[in-house]
Amino acid sequence: VLNKIDLLPGNDGELGDLLMSYQALGYSVVRATVRGEHGLDELYAKLAGRTSVFVGQSGVGKSSLIDCLLPNEALRIGALSEDSRKGTHTTTTARLYSLPGGGELIDSPGIREFGLTHLDERQVTEGFIEFHEYLGRCRFRDCRHRNEPGCALLEAVEEGQISAERFASY
Ligand code: GDP
Ligand code: ZN
Repeated sequence: VLNKIDLLPGNDGELGDLLMSYQALGYSVVRATVRGEHGLDELYAKLAGRTSVFVGQSGVGKSSLIDCLLPNEALRIGALSEDSRKGTHTTTTARLYSLPGGGELIDSPGIREFGLTHLDERQVTEGFIEFHEYLGRCRFRDCRHRNEPGCALLEAVEEGQISAERFASY
């Protein structure tokens, strides 16, 4: 979800290309704003009938979106959990909302940083959906996709089948 599109120029500025690269990979992208209520019906349709979670840094507008999507405060079921993370003594409270048409939405208001330390290398690699068709095709079974000869991922980047930006991010 790209929220606050009311703050963007008409063509989405430089974010347009970024969003397009995700769409090309098969991710569905919703452009939304609570100012003028654009994209909210489309977002609601994607949440309906399933369990979803809003994840994002503080300030991106998760609570505002929920207020618009679920104006009825009585739908709030309550706190799921409280934990203090990374010794910062920050209390995070996830909330579970029930959608009138079926489905549940979890809000995670306390997220300040995005960390990967709980994942092993294989899980991070598999997180890149466009890598899937190349995994297992490297010359070495234990290839770490750094500079190994016969690395299928590196070859795919070389041939432009995997975006160099995405690979650099990996
Ligand atoms: P959260 O921390 O992710 O829950 O973010 P909030 O919902 O508290 O929103 C953070 C700030 O962004 C608030 O000042 C909101 O009024 C503002 N905001 C939220 N959604 C939008 C939007 O679509 N457009 C604009 N311009 N501001 C927004
Ligand atoms: Zn490899």
